[in-house]
Amino acid sequence: MIVYINGYRSHNKTLFDALNSASWFYGSRLLGGRMAKHITVEIKLIKDLKKKENAYGYCHIIGDDLSKPREFCIELDASTKFDFAQILTWLSHEFVHLKQFVRSELLDYEFDRTQWKSRMYNVEKTSYENQPWEKEAYRLESKLYEEFAEWYYD
Ligand SMILES: [Zn+2]
Repeated sequence: MIVYINGYRSHNKTLFDALNSASWFYGSRLLGGRMAKHITVEIKLIKDLKKKENAYGYCHIIGDDLSKPREFCIELDASTKFDFAQILTWLSHEFVHLKQFVRSELLDYEFDRTQWKSRMYNVEKTSYENQPWEKEAYRLESKLYEEFAEWYYD
């Protein structure tokens, strides 16, 4: 896996190192080491992402191959009011989406249509809590973060 980290507070070495290690940890846990090797992820730290975009994190596919995506950009709100545990939990949430894209469980289309496994969803008409890809991400985010923290901070 190739991990780039840039943006707001990326010069903070403690935060940078934790995000870098967590990316490797989440990537290998979710994808397996063999697949994780083929992934490139750019992590952009943004001040007040929540205020600007109404989300604490995003995961987008970059690169042209939408059927076999291997390059991603993850944006995270890194405002100083959030502690590292919170930011690293959002990172684990976005890594679950990255896994969903890599495994073609989640296919992101333009406009408002999204395919999850073999079913089409209109994101505008499906409440956030009922989107199965979000359910999975919320189910796994804290568990993954706690496993990481136990390993990293021990
Ligand atoms: Zn999500």
